[in-house]
Amino acid sequence: MTHCIVVGAGPVGASMGLALARRGFRVTLVEQSPHLPADPRAATLQPPTVDMLHELGVGPEILSRGLLAPKFQFRDRARDEIVAEFDYGMLSDETNFAFALQCEQFKVADTVITALRTEPAASVRLGTRLVEFSQSDSGVSATIAHDAGTEVIQADYLIGCDGGRSTVRKSLGIAFEGFTYPERFLVLTTTHDFLQRGFAIRNYVLDPSQWCALFKVPDNGPPGLWRCVFPTAATDQASDTECLADAYVAAQISGLDAGLGLGDLVHRNLYAVNQRVAAKFRQGRVFLAGDSAHVNNPLGGLGMNSGIHDAMNLADKLDQARHDRTGAEALFDAYDAERATLARDYVQAQTIQNKKRLEARTPEAREAALAELRMSANDPARHKTWVMRASLIEGLRNITKGEAV
Ligand SMILES: Cc1cc2nc3c(=O)[nH]c(=O)nc-3n(C[C@H](O)[C@H](O)[C@H](O)COP(=O)(O)OP(=O)(O)OC[C@H]3O[C@@H](n4cnc5c(N)ncnc54)[C@H](O)[C@@H]3O)c2cc1C
Repeated sequence: MTHCIVVGAGPVGASMGLALARRGFRVTLVEQSPHLPADPRAATLQPPTVDMLHELGVGPEILSRGLLAPKFQFRDRARDEIVAEFDYGMLSDETNFAFALQCEQFKVADTVITALRTEPAASVRLGTRLVEFSQSDSGVSATIAHDAGTEVIQADYLIGCDGGRSTVRKSLGIAFEGFTYPERFLVLTTTHDFLQRGFAIRNYVLDPSQWCALFKVPDNGPPGLWRCVFPTAATDQASDTECLADAYVAAQISGLDAGLGLGDLVHRNLYAVNQRVAAKFRQGRVFLAGDSAHVNNPLGGLGMNSGIHDAMNLADKLDQARHDRTGAEALFDAYDAERATLARDYVQAQTIQNKKRLEARTPEAREAALAELRMSANDPARHKTWVMRASLIEGLRNITKGEAV
């Protein structure tokens, strides 16, 4: 039985493990944390990702744990008005799931790992860290560490789904090319209900200095929680402590919605945001998938999604390679080419553009951004093009045809 070691039990490693197990591989999934991480991060599943999770057999469970978000809005903060509303319903001919699903990433990982544990040839090892590995023409050898000491395991392939600071990527000496934004992103979680003010479940609010992304997450069931993402001052202008202090936070939320105050906040988080893509997604028998291969700002909800898409693409290639050993090199090169193209030409391009649109500073840039949004939402053909791209359906179709943008 072909044996794969998957490193990391985030949403990508979990999906990688289950996709391989479902295709008849032996899977060892190692996760350094003793329990599945539950920090508030990604929460949006795009339609093709819901489709893929459905194919893995966890669709009903994921749907039951999520919140349907058929529409998303762009709003103008200063004028307090809706500029454009986009509807995933335009995709009803293109996908079985014409909506985004708000479902926190730890629920995605938890659901998928629960299914993986039922696979007889899969082993999920929490509290187990990949320390180092080596590879030859015939396999990989990985040293893992846990409470009982260290151990060496042999496998045919190793897949690094070990996040932005990936040990696997660094061990291979693969460059992580791109940049870090000077500002950090402030994420506030609140019980305040924005639906009552006509917001959608997912919203992007334009403003030259206080733009924000605002979306609902199901939490433990109704009424759910809302997450608000704001930019902060650059690192050399305000410390982390200052950005998380009441005065700073109050200024960010002021005027967003009359009823929203500091007392409604249940969590504050600050993080650095990178736009980076690995120079290679594969070296020999070792692969990168998810954040270990590409990281981006969260505007558009694409990071977790494109990582799960990497996992599905790689599982198919590894499966085909078992039956076509002479074609394995070409298949693995295709994984690298397809997924790097998707990461650069779609996810990086779209997330960078999304941020520029929200923060457009000069009156001309701002009016141009607002006009583009209105025109795109009001014209049915443009509307559909917009949601095809925002949902990653366009990118997925083009990379398999070998077309970049
Ligand atoms: C605030 C925020 C909001 C976001 N919002 C969205 C969103 O709305 N939509 C979206 O699509 N994306 C979003 N993202 C991005 C998303 O969170 C990531 O793209 C996603 O977590 C990537 O999943 P992953 O499985 O690749 O990596 P991770 O979730 O980082 O998982 C990596 C795992 O590997 C483990 N690990 C690391 N090293 C080792 C080792 N040596 N041995 C064993 N285990 C190891 C880690 O413990 C971790 O569990 C957001 C990110 C942030 C920070």
